[in-house]
Amino acid sequence: MISPMPTRSALRSRTWLVVVVFLALAPLAALAQRGDADATLARIRAEGLERSAALSLFLTLTDEIGARLTGSPAHVRSANWARDRFAQWGLTNAQLEPFEFGAGWELLHVSAAMTQPRYFPLIAYPDAWSSSTAGMLSGHAVYIGDKTLEQVTAMGQQLKGRIILTHPPVTAFVERDRPQPGLADAPVATGNPPLPQARAPIPARALATLLQQVGAGVTIRPSTYTDGTVGVLGSRTTPRDAVPAIVVATEQYNMMARLAVSGQPVVMTVESRTRHHETDRNSYNVIAEIAGTDPAVRDEYVLIGAHLDSWHAANGATDNADGVVAVMEAMRILRAIGAAPRRTIKVALWSGEEQGLLGARAYIEQHLATPEAQAKLQVYLNDDPGSGRTLGFYMEKNEAAKQFFDGWLAPLRDLGATINVVEGIGSTDHVPFVEAGMPAFNAIKDFEGYDVRTRHTNADFPERMSENELKQQAVVMATFAWQAAMLDKRIPRAARTPTTDHTEARRR
Ligand SMILES: [Zn+2]
Repeated sequence: MISPMPTRSALRSRTWLVVVVFLALAPLAALAQRGDADATLARIRAEGLERSAALSLFLTLTDEIGARLTGSPAHVRSANWARDRFAQWGLTNAQLEPFEFGAGWELLHVSAAMTQPRYFPLIAYPDAWSSSTAGMLSGHAVYIGDKTLEQVTAMGQQLKGRIILTHPPVTAFVERDRPQPGLADAPVATGNPPLPQARAPIPARALATLLQQVGAGVTIRPSTYTDGTVGVLGSRTTPRDAVPAIVVATEQYNMMARLAVSGQPVVMTVESRTRHHETDRNSYNVIAEIAGTDPAVRDEYVLIGAHLDSWHAANGATDNADGVVAVMEAMRILRAIGAAPRRTIKVALWSGEEQGLLGARAYIEQHLATPEAQAKLQVYLNDDPGSGRTLGFYMEKNEAAKQFFDGWLAPLRDLGATINVVEGIGSTDHVPFVEAGMPAFNAIKDFEGYDVRTRHTNADFPERMSENELKQQAVVMATFAWQAAMLDKRIPRAARTPTTDHTEARRR
């Protein structure tokens, strides 16, 4: 049966009734909401610890996809894979956001060996964006590690097509991890520690120009890590006609350099095949979200993120598949338990971090260019340097925000998240947010083996992380994202920027 249309006055009195009932129930509703919030924390924990997808996500990224250099086909594969996972879990707005990057590059093949005075296979990798060698090069290596620019210039045509050992033996190695923040009486790291560089008598740029002019075949230089670990980077501005550059494990390079210095002929074979990609000069951030449910604050958002790109000599496990898994799994957990946050929770997987935080900077340009847009960001939480479990967050000298973060550690203490430090950390994707005056913080991780072994090296493999650590960091990230999304207040901006507390203003 269809009800007759209510009259206006009936509507009005019914509205009053609704208002009276609402006012009577409001304190109860607030209590219920708080109870819900606590129940949600328990559900986050149960989902993250008992039904975790973290290990499977981690092994897909590291074993199946592998290295994810910005601009490489593998990076695009990983971005599409992550977008599809987000969509499959029921996140909304899952998509790739392009930004201009330049030519991509990938490694197809490398082999290097000393063949005289005896056969010895070498651990060797080309710099990213270096060109292929002209096929397999073979012959006496020319050692110039003790020569001046004038002496090398005088060698001229003798260097054409040759294999060049550019550096003297290395004596200063990467031997220590940075101090662990959060431990008593250890100073807090404010960024990546300086790494010893292999030094040559001739400045790198002058030597590169000279060798390019004389048409050298390939340069061989030492790493500065120990025990077979090779640190390899590369620059996307490397000219295509620059001499192909190869880095060799420190002790192996030192052996060949010492043999050469003692007058023994060192014969080598070297081949590097690489490919530049020009068709698509964009790279891509991956984004997705869980929509907020409170009409008063749902246009505000909590952003969590990590960089998906890596260097090319290993599988980018600690730098930074672990961080990616923390934020992906956090989103999966929140979605799986049907979390209905007051504010929207967004996730971003950055690209181009290793080339200068390019993806995060592009996002700020695309989404956070005005003070009005920036006021909608409740907080950005990043997961990058270090590996292992999350101990807490670096608070970027924001004492007021630290008070909230300290409270959120309480239910996570037994999982090992016990401390936020007031100091900041540099060199990763939250930095451009901080520079623009937004509250943005990076997770504190373990640094054991990170600086000496895995960061930007050929040793960055998934064995460095345990399944329990992968689960823990996702639970911590999901908990913090949830707490920030549910908070009555805005996360305070650092003191040096004016605080705009829109939520409070609206409530008043
Ligand atoms: Zn890195």
